[in-house]
Amino acid sequence: MNTAFAPWQQAVYEQMAGALDAGRLGHGLMFQGPARLGKIAVAERLARRVLCTDRRGDGEPCGQCRDCRLLDAGSHPDFQKVSFIPTRDGTKLRTEIVIEQIRRLSEQLALTPQYGVAQVAIIDPADAINPSAANALLKTLEEPVPGRYLWLVTAYPGRLPATIRSRCQKFEFRLPPREQALAWLQAQGHGAAVATDALDAARGHPGLAHGWIEGGELGLRREVRADLDAITAGRLAVVATAQRWVADEHADLRLRFAADLAVEAAANRLTDPMRARSLAAWFDRANRARDLLRTTVRADLVVVELLMAWRAGESKHATKHATTRQGIDA
Ligand SMILES: [Zn+2]
Repeated sequence: MNTAFAPWQQAVYEQMAGALDAGRLGHGLMFQGPARLGKIAVAERLARRVLCTDRRGDGEPCGQCRDCRLLDAGSHPDFQKVSFIPTRDGTKLRTEIVIEQIRRLSEQLALTPQYGVAQVAIIDPADAINPSAANALLKTLEEPVPGRYLWLVTAYPGRLPATIRSRCQKFEFRLPPREQALAWLQAQGHGAAVATDALDAARGHPGLAHGWIEGGELGLRREVRADLDAITAGRLAVVATAQRWVADEHADLRLRFAADLAVEAAANRLTDPMRARSLAAWFDRANRARDLLRTTVRADLVVVELLMAWRAGESKHATKHATTRQGIDA
């Protein structure tokens, strides 16, 4: 149960545990920072630290008392987790956290803890609460009861009403320094080259990089790079490539990767400001295409236009260089 934290998790956990032990932990907490950095795991460990009735010498939960065992079993009466519940017909999950859930939570928090220590409730993702649920939640936050903890987990704190944010003590999860992220990725069993590649692709986010290696997205990124190169070289037809890019559920990710690769290419062409500018424009275009893909516009046509623009930009660049070279040669 007490699996080792990544260093960035450990840092936040220690900060929170210190506040808890010193009696400085507020009623409402916000666990904020990018998705896939392990915020929930930290919240759950902290909940154990709060609810365990036989903590070890170092303050960590014992893992053996009744509270710890009930937490392991997911049936501790003083611990609640609020997330998406199934829709009325039960066919899928709702995409919002609704007022009934927050009402039930508030009722529960108003009760005396069953085992006498405290009550902990986690809302994840807190940014998914809809406006009426947010109002109900605000009431609960405004009337804190001692020994009740309400923790909001979110990757998008800005989506929560300011009135809620202002009532929470904030703990920020941050992307770790590159060396630390690489060391962690290697400790997960990834080779140095793959780890570096994935970390670059994920813009320094180790959790995302790990997920992308495991899930095959890194391979998809390599394919996108190879496709763009082949289009530049005239070895690949634009229309067929566009059709292939939108043929499965990864169209959006391909465009995201393509946009990233344009930024990377621009960074490598700082000596050619014209091309760097046109790559920046293409980056914007790729992101607009991602938005369009969420509409009813025909996806393949959107991508055809985008790839045509890529080919045009790259060939103009090639021609310009050819001309310059001729000029020098002459
Ligand atoms: Zn315990």
